Amino acid sequence: MFKSTFHSHSRFDDGKEELEAYIKSALEKGFKAFGFSAHAPVLNETGWNMKMKDFEEYVNTTKILKNKYKDKLEIYTGLETDFYEGSIDWRKKEGIEYTIGAVHFLVDKKTNEYLPVDGTPEEFEETLNNSFGGDIKALVSAYYGKIREMLLLMKPDIVAHLDVIRKNNKNCKYFKEDDDYYMNEVYETLKVISSSNAIVEVNTGGISRGYVESPYPSRWILEACLDMNIPVIVNSDCHHPEHIDFYYEETYDMLKDIGFKYQRVLYRNEWRDVSL
Ligand SMILES: [Zn+2]
Ligand SMILES: [Zn+2]
Repeated sequence: MFKSTFHSHSRFDDGKEELEAYIKSALEKGFKAFGFSAHAPVLNETGWNMKMKDFEEYVNTTKILKNKYKDKLEIYTGLETDFYEGSIDWRKKEGIEYTIGAVHFLVDKKTNEYLPVDGTPEEFEETLNNSFGGDIKALVSAYYGKIREMLLLMKPDIVAHLDVIRKNNKNCKYFKEDDDYYMNEVYETLKVISSSNAIVEVNTGGISRGYVESPYPSRWILEACLDMNIPVIVNSDCHHPEHIDFYYEETYDMLKDIGFKYQRVLYRNEWRDVSL
């Protein structure tokens, strides 16, 4: 079994602990590869993105660790990048080996404010009511539309937590996943992913933080990924070294049960399919 995560957060953004603490945990847990993916700096600073001034130190620290542990573990330097109007393209920045593309917020056209789509329940209500007039269909379609735009204009290696919009949808509070409009948005997005060659991540981070009870995206979406030949990768989106393999056994089992035989990971500097 190939244990890895390419999605992790540290004290450089909204995670805990120094980068090295994650490497020590990865070694203890028998990981074959580990990727750092701080939230890339954004134009209007937030409480969770890395600050622009820390970018160089982040890259340099990962380089030191790569070297120090080169005989024990493959370490990669990535970023979780936000896609929004005017967003920065981090893909070719010096020292960055891969990106995980996410839509965490939409930008209000009138005020230019960042409207979180996966924030607290209160923030979600605010986004829905203040900027979408309470119309959940409009919000869902703006979210998935933005993911499609990202894939067409700034394709990342990995698509982050594809259906994170369901974070605050406990007990189908806002929508049902089998509503026609919702399924259409997802399928339209999968079509774009399929022709883009991007990898869909199976993200257990929402479970470790107590927001949801299953990985992102939902099982039916993963079944559709298999049907459409879209590669997947298991990532923990950990914000603490203890959580680097949270819910992994259950997730590998679920993927095998669906029919997946491989996940696609970065190994020996190339994206490769490895057995689950
Ligand atoms: Zn994220
Ligand atoms: Zn993340």
